[in-house]
Amino acid sequence: MKKKRIRKVLIANRGEIALRIMNACKEMGIGTVSVFSAADRDALHTKSSDEAYFIGEAPASESYLKGDLIIETAKKAKCNAIHPGYGFLAENGEFAQKVIDSGLEFVGPPPGAITQMGDKTLARKIMMEACVPVVPGTADPIKDKKKAKKTADEIGYPILIKAAGGGGGKGMRRIASPEDFDDGLKRAVSEASSSFGNPLVYIEKYLEKPRHIEFQILADKYGNTVHLFERECSIQRRHQKVIEEAPSPTLTPEEREKFGEIAVRAAKACGYSNAGTVEFLMDAHRNFYFLEMNTRIQVEHPVTEEVTGIDLVQEQFKISSGEKLSFKQGDISLRGHSIESRIYAEDPLSDFYPSIGLINELQEPTGNGIRIESGIKGSSEISIYYDPLIAKLVCTGRDRKGAINRTIQALNDYVITGLKTNLAFCNFVMEHKKFRDGDFDTNFVNEHFKPEYLNRFENKEKAVLAAVAAVHAHNNGGRGKSGDQGKMKRTTSNWKSVGMALNMR
Ligand code: ADP
Repeated sequence: MKKKRIRKVLIANRGEIALRIMNACKEMGIGTVSVFSAADRDALHTKSSDEAYFIGEAPASESYLKGDLIIETAKKAKCNAIHPGYGFLAENGEFAQKVIDSGLEFVGPPPGAITQMGDKTLARKIMMEACVPVVPGTADPIKDKKKAKKTADEIGYPILIKAAGGGGGKGMRRIASPEDFDDGLKRAVSEASSSFGNPLVYIEKYLEKPRHIEFQILADKYGNTVHLFERECSIQRRHQKVIEEAPSPTLTPEEREKFGEIAVRAAKACGYSNAGTVEFLMDAHRNFYFLEMNTRIQVEHPVTEEVTGIDLVQEQFKISSGEKLSFKQGDISLRGHSIESRIYAEDPLSDFYPSIGLINELQEPTGNGIRIESGIKGSSEISIYYDPLIAKLVCTGRDRKGAINRTIQALNDYVITGLKTNLAFCNFVMEHKKFRDGDFDTNFVNEHFKPEYLNRFENKEKAVLAAVAAVHAHNNGGRGKSGDQGKMKRTTSNWKSVGMALNMR
């Protein structure tokens, strides 16, 4: 295979992942071109690249999803590659093919692998043929209602009816008993067509207390495929991840080796190259089932980088340039423990609904073992048009306890004012005994999180801030302004100084 040096790349994305890709490019001497919508004229990604091009209005369908315009822009800017990041066009096989057809390198897997893994029923079929265990269910999309009902009876209720083209935690309907089947199927089909433009649905057994455990894969274009161990992503709300960690607190070394090998087999089964993730669910009896394959860089990739020392985005560029992997499976080892908290502009007290608006003040924690992946600086707008992710807080320690304690300290040092965030919710998770013990599954939030916890947290926070402000006012001879209060930095020592340590374990 001919090597093709990537000299200049168009990053077809925004926010933190666009900046993350840019950082990798800067280290590798690759020129960067960003694209931006009307909502992102002043965004950090727009300002941080070598060149930036306007591509349309704020809704993604009028800008970041305009594949043809993005390819045209890349050609105009004399790029020789496009990196799609995650979301938007990243898992659109047709777009990847067009990029290649226009003579550019697509920094991602072959279009065929994207298309195959994007169709969840086809993906299940390919995995079954490769002897990768899949969640029990139908092999094909449902065509015959009677037959489907029979399958549901055989695997046993509850079941999930899932959209073949679903994603983002959407397009899943839990059916508790046979009486609900007909109505549930009708609703699932109608939701699948309206949300994903594809009415096809299939059945999976609903696993009662599963853990979401996924393996990171890297594969070059010469058939060399390795895994970089697993990430545990069971702390979710609305079937969407919020806190991820590497390694999983529950896997034994034998399970790690066994399912790592299965993940490599899964990647090979679809002719994979580049970075990808094989997702599994592990049930209460420690059975592993293939869930899906994500054919892109994952939001939570930094925790894997932290514990393996391998820069996944740089590897993506090297693989796309036609380089062979410079390491073998035996060369990759785990060191320490890393936890990512996704800091969202959302309201945990209102079912984690996005909280859009302007950030007034932003102070990010710093320190040993703290890595922040952020797309914003200072006052920025969290807009209705895009994912309300503010930043990813990645804390790494020598062991899991160290990583948890570092996360708590960093969350305490974070200041974001102007809109609601999930900082206190993340703190709640870190402080919870079940989480600290590693004894949790994907139902953790539903089972343990009560909004009162945050009221308690926030009331205590207000009390602490008021107490600290009073001390400051006293020390300043009463010169403190009442407005200073909201800007004060929270620290653990502040909490401790007024004897209000949380008691939520
Ligand atoms: P998406 O592609 O929308 O992210 P996934 O199939 O990856 O959907 O599932 C997302 C989450 O939904 C999983 O991590 C898990 O919490 C839940 N889930 C999916 N399938 C099942 C299942 N068969 N049983 C129980 N929970 C499931």
